[in-house]
Amino acid sequence: MSIDPAVDLPFFYGSISRSDAEQNLKLAGMADGLFLLRQCLRSLGGYVLSVVWNLEFHHYTIEKQLNGTYCIPGGKPHCGPGELCEFYSKDADGLVCPLRKPCLRPAETPIKTGVFDKMRENMLREYVKQTWNLEGESMEQAIISQAPQLEKLIATTAHEKMSWYHWKINREEGERRLYSGAQPDGKFLVRDKEGAGSFALSVMYGKTVYHYQVIQDKSGKLSMPEGTKFDTIWQLVEYLKMKPDGLVTVLSEACINGKTTEKTPSLPATRRSGANGYTPPPRAAAFALSTTNASPKNRDILPMDCDGFNPYHNPNDIKKFNILREQLMMDEEIELGSGNFGCVKKGVLKTEAGQIDVAVKVLKSDNEKMVREEMMREAEIMHQLSNPFIVRMLGLCHSESLMLVMEMAAAGPLNKYLSTKKDSVSVENIVNLMHQVSMGMKYLEEKNFVHRDLAARNVLLVNPQFAKISDFGLSKALGADNNYYKARTAGKWPLKWYAPECINFHKFSSKSDVWSYGITMWEAFSYGGKPYKKMKGNEVTRYIESGGRLESPPACPERMYTLMKECWTHSLEERPDFKKVEESMRSYHYSICGKAKLDGATAADEPTKQTERRK
Ligand code: ATP
Repeated sequence: MSIDPAVDLPFFYGSISRSDAEQNLKLAGMADGLFLLRQCLRSLGGYVLSVVWNLEFHHYTIEKQLNGTYCIPGGKPHCGPGELCEFYSKDADGLVCPLRKPCLRPAETPIKTGVFDKMRENMLREYVKQTWNLEGESMEQAIISQAPQLEKLIATTAHEKMSWYHWKINREEGERRLYSGAQPDGKFLVRDKEGAGSFALSVMYGKTVYHYQVIQDKSGKLSMPEGTKFDTIWQLVEYLKMKPDGLVTVLSEACINGKTTEKTPSLPATRRSGANGYTPPPRAAAFALSTTNASPKNRDILPMDCDGFNPYHNPNDIKKFNILREQLMMDEEIELGSGNFGCVKKGVLKTEAGQIDVAVKVLKSDNEKMVREEMMREAEIMHQLSNPFIVRMLGLCHSESLMLVMEMAAAGPLNKYLSTKKDSVSVENIVNLMHQVSMGMKYLEEKNFVHRDLAARNVLLVNPQFAKISDFGLSKALGADNNYYKARTAGKWPLKWYAPECINFHKFSSKSDVWSYGITMWEAFSYGGKPYKKMKGNEVTRYIESGGRLESPPACPERMYTLMKECWTHSLEERPDFKKVEESMRSYHYSICGKAKLDGATAADEPTKQTERRK
């Protein structure tokens, strides 16, 4: 699920040991400059480059930096492990020799997944399940959209879920627990070190308990004295199960702390949202609540903290199509927006389990048959969609006027939000939001719907970290064997967001939505700027046909502008689909946040280029 940026490199072996790396290099002939890449066991996201020179092995650590770049300590930064290897193939730049010949992984040998990869994957699932009561598709969406943020959270709190972690007990209590029951060598527990803000490890050996202090350096890395450093205590424990690293013995069985293995009760069915759509996680979500830095008070709100992520804990309760007027309380004072049809008002929907904030699109006059039909069509489309990154329709209410009841996205349209928050919203935040939009659009593409009005004004924010696609007024469901919709006549169209085939041939497909996604990206990275500002619609069409494209917004990362330009590929066939766009957004999103911060904070510790020689 997390994409390893080295996965496509034919000389990447995954999590193999140093001796396995050397064995592979031997088998491949020990030529000067022969090299392979493997995963680094001790730093999350890091690699090791193993190179042959003069019949000797040289192993270089590649660290992932704070800004998402990769470098051999002391060397130049590169945007990925592939780019780094390419660089060193042209210039030794401090290595024993340039990389000359890749030691290719045999076709029958799969990339070896590391012990931490598997643990991380399982933990991520368990964490999301327990903290937000999510399963199935909504769990997948939560993990894909927030993997870096979740990994960071878990990396700092996961030990609390481990049976070997005994929280704050003193040395005597630790001994008492280890001596009770069987006393095999290597039986161990981890406890908080009194007053030191770090951990202590107590290990049984020869029926005697030994205590070790876990050293924490100034950047937060953990190790045994003089031992290998790790980002997290659970990585250190896993390592010490394989190597003693200065202990009397390797760790074997955990001395089990009964408390951590208790099953947490399931969560209540529905939750009432507070300001910004944020719902405090229920007390039962002990995994997240048991630590201070996992509490939303001390971290950014994640989309999963909000009701709007998955309102269907109890599907019969909320997903009502016909809403009775007495269930709906309207705030007549607060108008969220208006359009051709009428206006959008703030409201509260009463359900058996509680109340939820809603936005209500109110038809201005029931007499206008056309507008009424349009709104019914919009409702029909929305009713078929359910995705965290798409505004869900909760139902229709036929009363004094026709009312379409939708999930509330209280922070409003993306373009307005960004234009008023230029100084405080980071590029990482925009990437996160635009990745969510690409996930919503990928879902639409899979369901065979075209949106036809994707623009920053139609991306609504639940809160600064959570975006939803809205306004399905122009959307169409495509037939099973049709991959485009042909409009008979041109209407009041948002030409600046439209692909050439929409304007020239009235043909609309998911690929034309991809073009609009590129324009939406441009709006987002220019903080709500207006595309083709001084041009009229028909001038834009001529400009596009002559090969002209919007320029990169000043704050826009290069990879994001490259993706925009791909979205504006004139030829429909060559333009990427949302599956591809989402993949690109995901890989960039993962590369710049979360893990990068963890690794980067520790990389500064090792300023010099390190190499070890072995015969
Ligand atoms: P038209 O379909 O005629 O183009 P429109 O685009 O103006 O209409 P909408 O985008 O559906 O209509 O809604 C108008 C405004 O109402 C939005 O720009 C937004 O500010 C507000 N709004 C709409 N839906 C929601 C919602 N679910 N939550 C919060 N605000 C909303």
